[in-house]
Amino acid sequence: MPEPEDVRSASVRLAGLAHRTPVLTSRMFDQRLGAELFFKAETFQRSGAFKFRGAANAIARLSDEQRRRGVVAFSSGNHAQAMALAGRLAGVPVVIVMPADAPAIKRAATAGYGAEIVSYDRYTEDRQEIGARLAAERGLTLIPPFNHPDIIAGQGTAALELLEETGPLDILLAPLGGGGLLCGTALAVALLSPGCTVIGVEPEAGNDGQQSLAAERIVTIPVPQTLADGAQTTALGDLTFAMMRDRVAKIVTVTDAQLLRVMRDLAERMKVVVEPTGCLAAAAVLEGVVDVRGKRAGIILSGGNVDVSLYGRV
Ligand SMILES: *Cc1c(COP(=O)(O)O)cnc(C)c1O
Repeated sequence: MPEPEDVRSASVRLAGLAHRTPVLTSRMFDQRLGAELFFKAETFQRSGAFKFRGAANAIARLSDEQRRRGVVAFSSGNHAQAMALAGRLAGVPVVIVMPADAPAIKRAATAGYGAEIVSYDRYTEDRQEIGARLAAERGLTLIPPFNHPDIIAGQGTAALELLEETGPLDILLAPLGGGGLLCGTALAVALLSPGCTVIGVEPEAGNDGQQSLAAERIVTIPVPQTLADGAQTTALGDLTFAMMRDRVAKIVTVTDAQLLRVMRDLAERMKVVVEPTGCLAAAAVLEGVVDVRGKRAGIILSGGNVDVSLYGRV
């Protein structure tokens, strides 16, 4: 189980490697909500999302032997791009197991960072099996997207930087998929703002985290239909579930319609391009799902990798 101090160690490892992203504010939003809002813009992180932090931290923690042999991950999204870039920067070979029908733009971005892509048919083949076979045959180390102590500690460095800049906050909200970002955020809060309430925000169609905390066990759901493709996870991990039970106050949900309105709001008012998943925490505040009146609230804008034609339609 990662500890708060692990986030501090991760931030030392990431110095000069990950960007220290800006904290944005808006008087217009503050007036509208009667609150003080601080947006941590991970849209400007390397590879376009906070996931570079966890990936680079996990790779930095490998032994020399593991580095030489390389790593494997399965993902079609931001974890794949983050692993590919972090591996290239560290000189570590990266294999990404990706569905054959993944969007061409994501395949191209991952390949562009120099990773080897192994395709599979997601209707007839099991990516877990393929990953395990590759790991066994080539001695690769599997790096999962959220359920791993080094990934969680790395993701926590975004909130650590935010709190270093703002000082203690009353409330801090982060998007929730598998829980790596949210658990890392909670660890940073324990270090720098112990009285702060930590809230996770999920898409309404994929509220397995909310159901899991209510049921006190990990609830698995079918792949949710939502625009928030970075939060289409079907279940929390054992590690992230246990940490969330201890450190997260509650989970709230927002609809796709709310995400789209906020995506537009953020572009119009703050001039920042945020992908639908990246809008989850902002939507909970700006759409009034969580009451922040009179409070100092932190919001993580987790990423900006959005298909430009979708963005244009919005
Ligand atoms: C992966 C991702 C999330 C969810 O992070 P978890 O650690 O899986 O909870 C949120 N936003 C973006 C942009 C992501 O890529």
